[in-house]
Amino acid sequence: MNRERFDTWLRNIYETQDVEISCTECFDLVSNFVELEVSGENAAAKMPQLKHHLDQCQACRDEYEALRVLARWENEGGAPSLDDLRNSIR
Ligand SMILES: [Zn+2]
Repeated sequence: MNRERFDTWLRNIYETQDVEISCTECFDLVSNFVELEVSGENAAAKMPQLKHHLDQCQACRDEYEALRVLARWENEGGAPSLDDLRNSIR
């Protein structure tokens, strides 16, 4: 483990109160997270580890953003407007 990795590792430990989840776990759970959000629940409060992972992991955040866009389309029961697409990319 080089110095930089060690620092990151150490920071993760101190910033994380709960057990860190892996990308695999994140991919399994992220759809639940989005469902909570879509139904108006405070997803971040209910699944803090997942939120923490999303804050740190670009790959999982991309997955999350994509799922969130899909969930919103389903919820609204229609195709997205151009503005929706633009906002979702931002
Ligand atoms: Zn990840």
